[in-house]
Amino acid sequence: MRSNILLIYTGGTIGMKEDPDTLTLVPFNFKQILDEVPELRKFVHKIDLYSFEPPIDSSDIEIHVWVEIANLIKERYHSYDGFVVLHGTDTMSFSASALGFMLENLEKPVIFTGSQLPIGMLRTDGKENLISSIEIAAAKDEIGRAVVPEVCVYFENMLFRGNRTSKYNAENFSAFKSYNYPPLAQAGIHIKYNTPYISYPKAWGEELVINSKLDTNVAILKIFPGISPSVVSSFLNIKGLRALILETYGSGNAPTKRWLIDLLRESVERGVIILNITQCPAGSVDMEAYSTGILLKKIGVLSGYDSTTEAALTKLFFLLGQSSDNMTIKPLLLKNLKGEITIN
Ligand code: ASP
Repeated sequence: MRSNILLIYTGGTIGMKEDPDTLTLVPFNFKQILDEVPELRKFVHKIDLYSFEPPIDSSDIEIHVWVEIANLIKERYHSYDGFVVLHGTDTMSFSASALGFMLENLEKPVIFTGSQLPIGMLRTDGKENLISSIEIAAAKDEIGRAVVPEVCVYFENMLFRGNRTSKYNAENFSAFKSYNYPPLAQAGIHIKYNTPYISYPKAWGEELVINSKLDTNVAILKIFPGISPSVVSSFLNIKGLRALILETYGSGNAPTKRWLIDLLRESVERGVIILNITQCPAGSVDMEAYSTGILLKKIGVLSGYDSTTEAALTKLFFLLGQSSDNMTIKPLLLKNLKGEITIN
């Protein structure tokens, strides 16, 4: 089946080339992508290109870029069957997680991809990533519905739910992992979809809604042996802070020191949301497993379950943007909104 695909180039290594004079990586004019990837001509699909000017290294990603991507998808939603977002790898998991919360009633694929080596280099991983992402964004079932109507990350043969990913390797072509959720598809000779794990709309035909109000009054504090009261209280006293993500040990454990519990309790009582996620890449917070976790639960710290840091942060941005009242946000934070957490 022929599909219409919009390729959104935001920036990143994938759109770079080696400058023969300086031997540094510089962005090429992405409108000339067909010169770099002539294989794109072989698709039966119609592929249009939208390029950010100037391209953004993903370390410079800001909220307004997410809003721009969301608005672009909204504007062109009815003209395309799927969207491929080319993005730097460094913050791709943050952007894919954010877009997952920002796009409400999504029925079409939004596939983030990029590469570790520029597309203009001989050994690039960018071509396969780009070509398979287009294939996945274009895939429809026999009645014309998207096979993967989710915000995803495709990288090195694997398709993952975006809000379950983290960049874990700065060197390998296989740069992303989804530690706590199975892949949505795997590309070999065939692209094999893991249908039971793909999320489908409850009712098809709803209007796409963009949640573009995000509140970034959030901080992330990683617990470490030797952490001092002044570090913790500096975080908790940040002006305007509405939520703190506490990266704890193992299954959600923190030191039991009196001063730490007191500081956290005082902040919860002031209305600050404290969300407990684990520093371990895999597994879940369980605040009932050890007395150290039970103590946190008792004072009102909330469980982030098996959330990635990227998903926890962007979920908070999204929920805080919905309401200025932290009390109304807390129950929503504990819910699985977009497949970002596993609640047994
Ligand atoms: N610094 C680049 C970026 O994230 C790295 C990459 O694209 O892989 O934009």
